[in-house]
Amino acid sequence: MKTTTAPARRVALLLPLALAVVLTADRASGAPPSAPAAPASRKVTLLHLADVYQVQPVEEGRRGGLARVATLRKQVLKETPDVVMVLGGDTLSPSVESLLTVDGKALKGRQMIDAWNALGLDYAVLGNHEFDFGDEALRERIRESHFTWLGANVTDAKTGKVFEGVKAYDVREVGGVKLGLFGVVVAETKKTSKPGPDTNFGDACEAARDAVAKLREAGATVVVGLTHLPLEEDRALAKCVKVDAILGGHDHTGAEDRSTGTPIFKVPADAVELGRLTLDVDAATGTVRKATWKRIPVTRKVPEDKEFNAAMKAYEPLFARLSERVGRTPVALDGRSVEVRTRETNLGSFVADAFRAAAGADVALVNGGALRADSVLPAGVVTRRELHAILPYEDSLVTVEVKGSTLKAALENGVSLAREDAKPGRFPQVSGLRFTYDASRPAGERVVDVKVGGKPLDADASYRLATLSFLVGGKDGYEMLKGLPSTPVQKGTPLDVLAEAFRTGKPAPRAKPEGRIVRTGDATLTKDARRPPAPLK
Ligand SMILES: [Zn+2]
Repeated sequence: MKTTTAPARRVALLLPLALAVVLTADRASGAPPSAPAAPASRKVTLLHLADVYQVQPVEEGRRGGLARVATLRKQVLKETPDVVMVLGGDTLSPSVESLLTVDGKALKGRQMIDAWNALGLDYAVLGNHEFDFGDEALRERIRESHFTWLGANVTDAKTGKVFEGVKAYDVREVGGVKLGLFGVVVAETKKTSKPGPDTNFGDACEAARDAVAKLREAGATVVVGLTHLPLEEDRALAKCVKVDAILGGHDHTGAEDRSTGTPIFKVPADAVELGRLTLDVDAATGTVRKATWKRIPVTRKVPEDKEFNAAMKAYEPLFARLSERVGRTPVALDGRSVEVRTRETNLGSFVADAFRAAAGADVALVNGGALRADSVLPAGVVTRRELHAILPYEDSLVTVEVKGSTLKAALENGVSLAREDAKPGRFPQVSGLRFTYDASRPAGERVVDVKVGGKPLDADASYRLATLSFLVGGKDGYEMLKGLPSTPVQKGTPLDVLAEAFRTGKPAPRAKPEGRIVRTGDATLTKDARRPPAPLK
C-alpha cells in the first residue's frame, strides 16, 4: 500500500465521496497520486475460545459444540477474510473422552487436536491441563497440531529453549496489519499438573516483556497476548507490558476488563460462547484505534458445519455411545470430590450398594478417590458419559474373603487421614456395614464401632467383600488387602454394574446419606493438614 503525507490524508478524508471516486479514477488514468487509495483503517478480527474440553455440545445439547463454532467461523469469514482464530488453553484434559482408549491407544486429548485441525484454529496457548498426561503425550499432540502452540514462559531446562514444538511468539500479516501474538500460562502448572522435571514455568510478565520486545523488532504494530492465567494475573500482565489486548482463559467465566487500560477478554468454558474481537487499526500508523468485543452465543440455532462433522467422522461412534441413555436416577447424586473423600454421600453408598449386590457380597468398600465426577449429578436421565465421569478408570470389580479383623483394618486405613488430609482419596464409601470413628484419636485406632448386617463385627469371622481391583493391589494404603485371592465379579465391569443399577433402579439410590458412617470427636483438620488445592481450572 502507498502512503501519503498526513496533511494530504486529512484533506482526503474531508472530500465528498464523489470527488474521492474521481480522484481514484485519475490515478487509474496514470495521474500522480493526489489522495489516499488506502483505507483509513483496517480491521483485524480475532475469534477466540478457551477451556474447551468437549467437541460436542454441552448442557444436553443446548450450548457449545465445535461443529457449530465451525459454522460461525465460516460466517465471519464471509464478512471478512482477515480473521485469526485462537484458543486460550486447556483442551487436552480433563474429559471423559481423553481417558478412553480408541484403537488400543488412550486418546489423551487426540480428539481435541483433530477437532481444532478441522475447525481451522490458528493459535493456541498452552494451558495447565495440557500437561496432565505428561510431556511426552503433549509433544505428540503438538506434532499432530496444524496450528501453532504458544508458551513464552514454558521452557526446557536441558535446552534452555521454549518447550519442544512451541513458539514464544509469532507474527502474522492479517489484512495488511502485522499482528504479533505471544502466549503465557499460569506458573503453578508445575505443581498442579504433571509436567516433566525439566519443564519449567517462568514468570509470565518477564516472558511477555521479552516476547513483546522481539515482536516489535520483527515489525509487529499490533500485539495481542494469549494467556492462560487467572484474571488477577492478566491485570498484572497488562500493567507490566504494553499490549493492545489480552485474550484469556483458565477462569471458565466470561470477562471484559478494561480497568488497566488494556482490554482483557475471556469467554466461558466449553465453547458456549465464541468471542469476537475486532481491532480497528489505523492504516497509516498500524496502531489500534479501537477494540470492540462481542460474545456470540453458540446455541442450537447455529447449524452444525458438515465439513467439520465429516472430518470428525471417526469419532462419531464414540460420541454416540457416550450420549446413550443408560437409565435414570430419581434423586440428585452427590459426587463432589471433597464430599466423597470425607464423608458418606448418597452416590458413594449407591455405588457400594450396586457393587455389593452384583457380587452377592456381605459388604462392599469403594475408595472415595475412585469416584471422579466431582459434581452433583442431577436427578433424571443418566448417560454413558456421566457413568464414565463417575468411574473413569479401568479397574475391575472383585470379591475377596476377609476376616473381620482385616475388614476393620481396611476401615482404619480409610479414615487414617481424616484429620491429616482435607481430601483423602482412601476415604471409604461402604455397603452392608455401618461404622463410627473418632477422628480425634490417633490414626489406626479411630474406628470405634463396626456393624455388619446389623450385628457387631466378628474379628474372626469371614466376610465376602466386594471392592475394586485397585484396592486389592494395596493402593491408597490398603496394604491389608494386598495379595488376597480375588475373584472377578461375573456381572461385568464396575461400569456395567453401575449402568445396570441405573437402568433397573435396583438398588435404588437414596435421597440422602443414611448414617452408615458416623464421625465423632474433634472434627477439625490438623494444623498441618494437606489442604485441597484450589479447584483446578
Ligand atoms: Zn486452566
